[in-house]
Amino acid sequence: MNKGLQIRDALGSPGMGRVVRALVHRLPEMGGAPIRLERVRGLRDSRGPIHAGSFLRERRIAFDCTGAEFPRIFVHELFHFVWLRLGNPGRHAWEELLHAEWRGAAKGELGWSAEWRKGALGRNDVAGRSRAWRLYCCESFCDTAAWMYSGVSEHAEFTLAANLRRARRRWFLATIESRDLSI
Ligand SMILES: [Zn+2]
Repeated sequence: MNKGLQIRDALGSPGMGRVVRALVHRLPEMGGAPIRLERVRGLRDSRGPIHAGSFLRERRIAFDCTGAEFPRIFVHELFHFVWLRLGNPGRHAWEELLHAEWRGAAKGELGWSAEWRKGALGRNDVAGRSRAWRLYCCESFCDTAAWMYSGVSEHAEFTLAANLRRARRRWFLATIESRDLSI
């Protein structure tokens, strides 16, 4: 149930509008200025084609993905806005959870965006909390949110062990769902 989240749907499709409304309903309570959704063909970043991009200051999300992948990608991108406003205590608590996983040599993730970044981390990144480590933490947060709230229960990119998924779910329940999020 979500009453505070304001989405300006400019995707240009009634079918997608229904999907967006259903997804908003599944999300934890959050509020803030409106976020605009739009479709852009041929999205890419410096590494190549991408499915979506969030423009945090402009408060818009551009999509270039299939309808099947849209729910996970929408929640992932929206949680980039949540991460930005989460505050240092919340972000550090999430880092601690991931650090414990790392110490336990945990394999897998809940999305490719986090998984490739995790695979590229070295010991010094983790020990020194490098930029690569902090980007991994952010992407892992957004991928975990997508796993929690997109309604997609199985996906080839959900490779994290079941006990660690449960720990992440508990963290989201305790830390994200216990407050009024502002985005
Ligand atoms: Zn991301």
